[in-house]
Amino acid sequence: MNLSDQLSITARNHPNKTALVFQDQKTSYLELEGAVTRFASQLRKLGYQKGDHIALAVGNSPYYVIGLYGALRLGAVVIPINPLYTAHELTYILKNGDVKAVITMDVLLEKFEAIAGNLPGVQHYISCESSAGISLENHSLYAKLKSFTNLLQEGTLMYEKTKLDDEDTALILYTSGTTGQPKGAMLSHRNLFSNAKDVADYLTINGDDSVIAALPMFHVFCLTVALNAPLMNGGTVLIMPKFSPQDVFRIAYDYEATIFAGVPTMYNYLLQSASGRKADLGTIRLCISGGAAMPVALLKSFEKTFGVMVSEGYGLSEASPVTCFNPLDRPRKPGSIGRNIIHVENKVVDEFGEEVAVGEVGELVVKGSNVMKGYYKMPEETAVALRDGWLYTGDMARMDDEGYFYVVDRKKDMIIVGGYNVYPREVEEVLYIHPDILEAAVIGIPDTGTGEAVMCYVVSSSTTLTEKELIEFCIGHLANYKVPSKFEFLDELPKNTTGKILRKNLKERVEQ
Ligand code: AMP
Repeated sequence: MNLSDQLSITARNHPNKTALVFQDQKTSYLELEGAVTRFASQLRKLGYQKGDHIALAVGNSPYYVIGLYGALRLGAVVIPINPLYTAHELTYILKNGDVKAVITMDVLLEKFEAIAGNLPGVQHYISCESSAGISLENHSLYAKLKSFTNLLQEGTLMYEKTKLDDEDTALILYTSGTTGQPKGAMLSHRNLFSNAKDVADYLTINGDDSVIAALPMFHVFCLTVALNAPLMNGGTVLIMPKFSPQDVFRIAYDYEATIFAGVPTMYNYLLQSASGRKADLGTIRLCISGGAAMPVALLKSFEKTFGVMVSEGYGLSEASPVTCFNPLDRPRKPGSIGRNIIHVENKVVDEFGEEVAVGEVGELVVKGSNVMKGYYKMPEETAVALRDGWLYTGDMARMDDEGYFYVVDRKKDMIIVGGYNVYPREVEEVLYIHPDILEAAVIGIPDTGTGEAVMCYVVSSSTTLTEKELIEFCIGHLANYKVPSKFEFLDELPKNTTGKILRKNLKERVEQ
């Protein structure tokens, strides 16, 4: 089974149900299925076939969904791209990914215009129209430009479906490693389908659900949890072009949303914008957090303010992405990423790959039908990540005696202070308890005495809070060597487009 065939089945079973809502426009399953087929037929007419690589650089919109499912139906390999990438990053990915066609938006064409000369392999740029309505005529890319809307209008429903095999690559997700160039994780049809199905079953995402898709769809968390999982079950996806707390409250109310999926910073913004009425998210039955560690203090305040349960899970691009979630039928443990989801096995190992005892910290490794085939054209990196049938996540974790996992931190983010290990997350958790701290991020800085020292960047709601007060607060909660020796106050912490806090940028700031 694959996502494209599943969409056809869902559309046959629920033709008139609303599949997508975007800017108050509804698209039924029948309409979505028709658009996907027409788009696939047009890609074939343009000369594309199974196995061709097609990049998708489109913001959250029905275009994204039609482009993705249309290309998958053809059997193409889709490469989702963050539209905010620089020309340099785009060139690297389009070249390394052997991209033949780019689906993008008229407002982004300028970017592609600038790099098109370096990309002779790209045969077409298929442009979705934005509300800005930029004219495609007289464009320097004109010879290669196609209008998405025209293609859809001219497409046909008389389409002989491509036979898709489970192990065929469906997606290549470029993950921005901290060193070297981004790596393209190859996900098969089986990987994508099984993870969406297993997450949906585990979290009971069903046809009565309306899920708010506020995370960017190019990120696999949104793709699997907020798009593929509801669509395969006949649910409704409430697409937000971009996250804003007020829009979440409005959409949740207007469309009686039942599920919200976000990264912890989104929960923080929602909390800071709450009017204090539980009704703000009154119809939501489940909030799903993932992508980064959810501070326990934030989780508790959010649940108290909105009266809704937050279930934290964990995943990574290489695992399509979900491996763990807090269950709905057992106690939810704050600070934990939960237990194995269906068909996925997690374990914690030492440096020799041996499973460690319950409670001990080691590297989290994962096995299951969701684990990638490997990195595109990078056999050496693949051999490091996939060993003895396990995916090595690069995250340090421990498991309790009830099978709940706890991410301690990224292996590479660990700080060594005078020989002692300090995990930034542990220090950040303490700072989030402080009533005046809105955001906190901890990094290691060079120190002549101890090798490394702990430094903390904070965003505070108070203008009078001092470094001295924060150090005293930490002394009350942490062993001495873990207490930050330096604090810096910022108006905002750097975040990527998904909303994850970028410790990497803070380290660069220190180096500079
Ligand atoms: P990405 O491949 O961009 O989805 O990033 C995956 C990484 O995000 C993981 O390897 C973890 O470091 C981090 N991550 C995801 N979920 C969590 C979580 N619940 N707690 C801590 N870190 C997380």
